[in-house]
Amino acid sequence: MTDPTPSPGPTRPTIDSQPVLERLAAYRSHDAPTHGGSVLSYVYDSGLAELDALAASAAAMALPVNGLDPTTFPSVALMEADLVTFGRTILHGPQAVGSVTSGGTESCLLAVKAARDRWRAAQGERAATDTGRPRIVLAASAHAAFHKAAHYLGLDLDVVPVDPVTGVPDAAALIDRLTEQTALVVVSAPSYPHGVLDPVAEVAGAAATRGIPCHVDACIGGLVLPFWADAGGMPPAEWDFEVPGVSSISADLHKFGYAPKGASLLLFAERELDLARYFALTDWPGYPVVNPTVLGSRSATSLAAAWAVTTALGPGGFTDLTRQIVVATQEVTRCVDSIGGLAVLGAPAGPLLAVVTDETVPPEQRVHPHLWAAAAARRGFVLQGQPALQQGDGSVIPRSTHLTITPATLGVLPELTRVLRESADEVRGGTVELPADLPAPDAVALAERARESGELDLTQVLALIEALPREATAGLLVEFLAAFAAPAP
Ligand SMILES: *Cc1c(COP(=O)(O)O)cnc(C)c1O
Repeated sequence: MTDPTPSPGPTRPTIDSQPVLERLAAYRSHDAPTHGGSVLSYVYDSGLAELDALAASAAAMALPVNGLDPTTFPSVALMEADLVTFGRTILHGPQAVGSVTSGGTESCLLAVKAARDRWRAAQGERAATDTGRPRIVLAASAHAAFHKAAHYLGLDLDVVPVDPVTGVPDAAALIDRLTEQTALVVVSAPSYPHGVLDPVAEVAGAAATRGIPCHVDACIGGLVLPFWADAGGMPPAEWDFEVPGVSSISADLHKFGYAPKGASLLLFAERELDLARYFALTDWPGYPVVNPTVLGSRSATSLAAAWAVTTALGPGGFTDLTRQIVVATQEVTRCVDSIGGLAVLGAPAGPLLAVVTDETVPPEQRVHPHLWAAAAARRGFVLQGQPALQQGDGSVIPRSTHLTITPATLGVLPELTRVLRESADEVRGGTVELPADLPAPDAVALAERARESGELDLTQVLALIEALPREATAGLLVEFLAAFAAPAP
C-alpha cells in the first residue's frame, strides 16, 4: 500500500505580482515623463506607441537569453548581424564590421581600447622603455565618454579648444596635436553639447597619412544625420565611412534609433582594428572566454528591442521620423532666434541646439539660459543646462541650455514655443548670484533635500560648477549622487 499523504517537500515560493508591480508604479511616478515631448534630453520618443509595444514584446522574447555565448544562443549573432548590415548601409561602409554594445559609452570605450591595443602593438618596434602613455586627440566638445575611457584604460588626453562662437574645433589645431604618442583622434558628428559637426574629412585624412585611427563619435547623430537630407534638412558635410581615414563610428540605437536604453552600434572600417576590441582568455580553468564587448554575461533584451525597432522602421521609417524632427528643429530654431536676449550657438547640423545668452544686446535685455531653463521647468518642459567652460587657451565656451528635438517635439510645438517665449520674458535681465564667500556646499544635505522634496535647484548647481575648481565639483557630484541613491537612513 502506498502512503496517501505525499511528503510536503521543499516549499515553493508564492509569487504575488500585483503588490510588487503597484510598488514599481509608485516608484515610476517620481520619474520625468518619457513620452510626449516635454523632456528635451535623455529620451528619444518616436511618438509611435506601436513601436514601443513591439520593442517591449521583442525584449520579453529575449529575456532569458544570455548574450555571452552566441554559439549557444545564435539569435544573438543573427540580430547583431542584421544591425551591423543596417549600419553598413546607412553609414556607407559596405565592409564595416562591429558589434552592438550596451550604449554610447561602451562603444566609445571599445573604440579607445582597440586603438590603444593597436598602438601598443606598434610600439614593439620602439624601445619599450620610452614609449610612455598613449594619447587621444579630441576637441573640448568631445563627449565625456572619452575622458572616462582615458581614465579607465590608461591614456592621456590632448584637448583642443573649440571656437566659443561656432563650437567647432580648428582642424589644423587638431592635426597639429597628432604625434607618435597619438593612439586615436576623435571627432564628433555632431558634438553633444552644441550639435555641430567637427571637421571630419580634414582630420580623418591627416590622421590616415600618419597611420593614426580616427573615430567618428556619431552616438547622437548616427541614426538621424544619414536621413537628414532626404528628410528635407540641410545636407551635413560628409562624416561617415565615405570619408577616407574614418576607422570607426559609434551610433547609438537607444538615441535616434528609438530603441529602449542599452543599445549602440560600434563599427570599424577594417577587421584588424575591430579584432583589437575583443578580450579572449584560455589561461584559466573555466570555459574558454571570448568577449567582443565589456560585459561577460549580458542581457539580449535591448539587442532584441533595438533589432525589432530598426527592422520595423527600415530606412523609410527612419526618414519619415527624421522629417518630423527636421520640421520641429526648424520651428524651435526660429522661435529661439525670435526671442530677444537668446541665441542659438553656431550652426547645428542636426536636431540638437545649444541656446546661449545673446551678448550683443544690453544686459537688461539678456536672458540667462539656466534661469530660462528653470522657468521652462516650472511650465512643464525639461531643458538641460550646461555650464560655461574655460578652455586651455583661456577662451570661454558660454553657458548654454541644451535641447534635443525628437519626433515627439512636433506634437507639442505650439505649447513648447509658447513656454520658451514666456520663460524668456519672465527671467529677462535676471542674473544668478552666488554668496560672495562660497561656503563648501554640503552635497549630502543637498541630496537629502532633493530626495525629500523631489526638487533640486539646478541653476545653483550649475553656478557652483562654474565658480568652483572642476576637481572639487566633480567630487561633490560623486558625494551627491552616492547620497541620493543610498537607502534612506
Ligand atoms: C550620448 C553620447 C555618448 C555616450 O552615450 P551613452 O549612451 O550615454 O553612454 C557619446 N557621445 C555622444 C556624442 C553622445 O551624444
